[in-house]
Amino acid sequence: MATVTLSSIAKSFGPTRVLGGVDLDIADGEFLTLVGPSGCGKSTLIRIIAGLEHQDGGAVTIGGQPVDHLRPHERRVAMVFQSYALYPHMSVRQNIALPLTMSRLKLWQRLPLLRALSGQRRAVMRGIEADVAAAAAQLQLDHLLDRKPAQLSGGQRQRVALGRAMVRHPDVFLMDEPLSNLDAKLRVHMRTELAELHKRLGATFIYVTHDQVEAMTMSDRVAMMDSGTILQLGTPSQLYEKPGSLKVAQFIGSPA
Ligand code: ADP
Ligand code: MG
Repeated sequence: MATVTLSSIAKSFGPTRVLGGVDLDIADGEFLTLVGPSGCGKSTLIRIIAGLEHQDGGAVTIGGQPVDHLRPHERRVAMVFQSYALYPHMSVRQNIALPLTMSRLKLWQRLPLLRALSGQRRAVMRGIEADVAAAAAQLQLDHLLDRKPAQLSGGQRQRVALGRAMVRHPDVFLMDEPLSNLDAKLRVHMRTELAELHKRLGATFIYVTHDQVEAMTMSDRVAMMDSGTILQLGTPSQLYEKPGSLKVAQFIGSPA
């Protein structure tokens, strides 16, 4: 579990300023949602927290530690993408295990010819199996571990992506529109599942969506973004009852 602080985060792509100095403090264990229209900079901001993109100015801390010098896998974060980003040639088991095999096995232990020789590798693999089984049980994927992603429904694929994020027990989950490829009915169901998962894990969730209903139903607080800045930050009821501007009111759907 960890707090996340963003101080004056600025980012441009070429001449285009995408983030104009974003300040945001996210509490330990909070479910915070970044919401706003397409192109407002949500993905860029969450990718900067993940370490997948580097800001031009400002600083990120996670759990009080500056992380700007840390690479993505060195930060205690895991990211879930809209596209799930599963490997089609790997089983569900292998997809979920991937972050663990990458971090726990030395490179030579991953080579097909050498790995049979290593007793140590077998011990590491048993540990990984146990961690994958625990994540799979949490997400009701136990019976699907030997399938390939193509043999799964959209909701099941999304759960595999969540499993892959969970196995490393990150302090912070970063989710970029994780439900937007699902049909409407499943999306509603997965909202409840995500909210329950958040409660169970007690981790900090930073969630990106352009869907105001998702933002308003799942979050402790919502940061409404527009053109690379935060227009308003508050609980869903604060945003709904006291929108700070017409733009917020229109996006949230508050009564005029
Ligand atoms: P959102 O996730 O809110 O839809 P993004 O953060 O993806 O917004 O994008 C914000 C703006 O930055 C958009 O105008 C987008 O075209 C631009 N942008 C994002 N990534 C890149 C990139 N790698 N190169 C150039 N422009 C980018
Ligand atoms: Mg985006």
